[in-house]
Amino acid sequence: MNIAIIGSGPSAFYTVQSFLRENPSTNIDVFEKLPAPFGLVRYGVAPDHQKTKNIIRLFTKYLYENNVNYYGNVEIGKTIALETLSNIYDAVVVSSGAPEDKNLSIDNNSKVKIYGSAQFVGWYNGNPIHSNLSPNFNCKNIVIIGNGNVALDCARVIAKTKEEFHQSDIMEYALRALNQSSVENIYIIGRRTPKDAKFTISELREMADLKLYKPEVDYDEKEMLKVLEINDLDTKVKKNIEALIDFKKISTDNKKKVIFKFLSTPSKVINENGIDYLILNKNKVIENKIVSSDTIEKIPTDLIITAIGYRVSPIEGLETEPNNNFFVNKEGHIKANIYTSGWASGASVGVIGSNKIGASLLVKKIISEVSTNKKNSNSKILEYFSKNSISYLTKEDWKKIDQIEIESANENFTRNKLVNIESINNKLRV
Ligand code: NAP
Repeated sequence: MNIAIIGSGPSAFYTVQSFLRENPSTNIDVFEKLPAPFGLVRYGVAPDHQKTKNIIRLFTKYLYENNVNYYGNVEIGKTIALETLSNIYDAVVVSSGAPEDKNLSIDNNSKVKIYGSAQFVGWYNGNPIHSNLSPNFNCKNIVIIGNGNVALDCARVIAKTKEEFHQSDIMEYALRALNQSSVENIYIIGRRTPKDAKFTISELREMADLKLYKPEVDYDEKEMLKVLEINDLDTKVKKNIEALIDFKKISTDNKKKVIFKFLSTPSKVINENGIDYLILNKNKVIENKIVSSDTIEKIPTDLIITAIGYRVSPIEGLETEPNNNFFVNKEGHIKANIYTSGWASGASVGVIGSNKIGASLLVKKIISEVSTNKKNSNSKILEYFSKNSISYLTKEDWKKIDQIEIESANENFTRNKLVNIESINNKLRV
């Protein structure tokens, strides 16, 4: 069987894993639009969460299997049409993730910059698409919108000192910029209540370990205690609420703060007397429903990061659902011999390992549905590259780059990522 996989992040490599388990002789060609592989693990997972990044070891094992090929810096839909892949391979699996930010409409009549978390996270992680972002931390107040783990990642990265990034793979340019920070307040804004927050407990608790910042919770403790009295309260919610209550008891000398605000819908940024403010429309809970109120709150704001979830990058020839959140599909089947797995196929939620079961089910489905009549797919794609003068990086190229990144990292870092294709090509030519 000859398979093309679009993308090289977690859902792509769990799909590779399942093919190698179910049908070890499958020939798999992985196409990645960025030069380097591993998508969300390399460019999304926070640089100080190195344990989570260890999954790269497993993915690398699959990458170097003889019947797996890697073509980096090749964008399907641009460098090669999806139809071309569909014609050459028995099946194509779209595992390109959800690398774009969901839009938040905030009326902005100020100079305040509003970045999406894909941009901001991509910047500190050396994603070539976002490496030129240059956020300015020479300011007092940063607002992060969203109550998920990505909001916590962004807040933690802004808050940490150089020492707290020891043995991480944060980009040196990001660390330099963060080191010059004069930020005093990082606001984390949720439109609903602490009970509705999507944080997971270990990530939330990390906010209490920050060297320079103290977590503060702007929510009535009595209301949180009432939540703890609910019968059959979800354990995850219980732990989050307990952590938020604990934050209220922390006494440190830290002047800098991470301030959690709830029941707040951001509406616009205004400038009053030279100061920029984010206007929050305050919500209230009535009969377990969140409803808006007439109250507003304004918080001084110099930079806004929205961390409200992700959408796919459209691919020519594929239909997305109306908000571009994922590609339209039925249990992973898009059309003809084209399938999809991971965040490209549904909501962008879950941890890296959450992609495993879906990939396994999809691979079984592909094996049962697809007729294997395409021959010499790999030779055909190489011929296509050559005929159309398409340059690409192979897994052997990546092996060299990987080694260079690890060897050139100074002792404080686990790797020194090469960002763009020019710098990668320069190293490969040496
Ligand atoms: P998420 O967990 O879905 O959180 C998104 C947040 O944005 C929610 O609080 C949501 O509020 C809010 N939101 C959505 N639309 C909004 C709007 N229009 N206005 C205001 N707020 C809005 O997404 P995420 O933080 O991007 O994370 C994606 C997935 O990756 C999650 O499953 C997450 O757990 C996972 N992740 C895990 C880790 C880790 O394990 N360390 C790290 C990072 C990410 P509502 O609930 O009200 O919709």
